[in-house]
Amino acid sequence: MARDETDDILPDQDAAKEFYAKYEPKEVLGRGVSSTVRRCIEKETGREYAAKIIDLSNEDNNAQCVRESTLSEVHILRLVAGHPYIIELHDVFESTTFIFLVFELCRNGELFDYLTNVVTLSEKKTKYIMKQLFEALQFVHSKNIVHRDLKPENILLDDNFNVKLTDFGFAKILKPDEKLFDLCGTPGYLAPEMLRCNMFEIDEGYEQTVDMWACGVIMYTLLVGCPPFWHRKQMIMLRNIMEGKYSFNSPEWESITETPKDLIRKLLVVDPEKRLTVTEALRHEFFQVTHFKTKKFDAKKYFRFAILCVRCLIRIRRLKFTPEPLSISVAALDPYRVKSFRKVIDNCAFRVYGHWVKKGDCQNRAALFENIPKTEMKHLLQSSTGWTSCF
Ligand code: ADP
Ligand code: MG
Repeated sequence: MARDETDDILPDQDAAKEFYAKYEPKEVLGRGVSSTVRRCIEKETGREYAAKIIDLSNEDNNAQCVRESTLSEVHILRLVAGHPYIIELHDVFESTTFIFLVFELCRNGELFDYLTNVVTLSEKKTKYIMKQLFEALQFVHSKNIVHRDLKPENILLDDNFNVKLTDFGFAKILKPDEKLFDLCGTPGYLAPEMLRCNMFEIDEGYEQTVDMWACGVIMYTLLVGCPPFWHRKQMIMLRNIMEGKYSFNSPEWESITETPKDLIRKLLVVDPEKRLTVTEALRHEFFQVTHFKTKKFDAKKYFRFAILCVRCLIRIRRLKFTPEPLSISVAALDPYRVKSFRKVIDNCAFRVYGHWVKKGDCQNRAALFENIPKTEMKHLLQSSTGWTSCF
């Protein structure tokens, strides 16, 4: 590379030595094709980071290629540094067999895993994530850089669930009017123009528009949990992508409003000229604050909420009638002191001895409720269980 990065290259052992002297590696956070990412602790400060360790010794003939693409990734990461929604590169160690990239740590991992946990995201959460992603991308595109591998696996979430765009391994800096032709990225997220120029050898090429297509695929997936073009047979999936064949027909889309659908429609446009740019996407109605205020009135939802409120009020009013918590020891030793047990015991007593109660004889009835042991029985009870109440 042209930059003075060559000055950073250390003899083999030294790069690794210097990394291990400064950082203590911990558990694996993720793996790539030729890299392992581990949590690590900076010994001097105790701060946590994520170290991407690229082992060039395993790559045989490919080593040079991996080295070049990693150095290009580092160069691009430095160009896009300082944005709140782009991963921050903290430190780099390079040698002929290893490259260590030390990044800020994203404790909440990949958006991919988060989505797998929650299955789908609400419109509000999708808006939050997509806005941050577009803002990161606007910064990337403003530097004439195309990312080319946008997908939920490469969108990390920090402690506050804010987006951190990462993995600039396929990113490329474009010269004015330059077009790209190579096929790279992940099948489900590939843009039609990228497939077209590879399948039909058309010399049209592609540029930043491919990232906007991928954003359309990501947004669709966040809202309903499944991607728009997926098919068991990859060839059919690729054909669907090239024809822009997808739908909002699945039942999950019924509860989703028109605004996010409109944004997806304007992103998943086969003709890249007619697709929204990142600045246009950020100006879309979906990201305007008024959007959630103008939401349609849902009578069923309000009725359900009203029922919940009434039930809640009734419960609060009845709170004083709720029995006190009952300890097992009291229930075992003196059940007659507990009101609900007393009722059951009295009911049983009345069933058995009810015929004793004579009409007009209140003394008789009181005897049935008597809770004081007879003098002659006291010594018997005290010597046995300590059970002091009987009827
Ligand atoms: P690759 O180019 O090999 O795909 P990535 O840079 O995408 O490498 O990292 C691979 C995986 O490692 C990510 O998908 C993620 O799970 C994890 N990872 C990478 N960077 C971080 C980070 N800063 N914080 C937490 N996890 C990370
Ligand atoms: Mg990756």
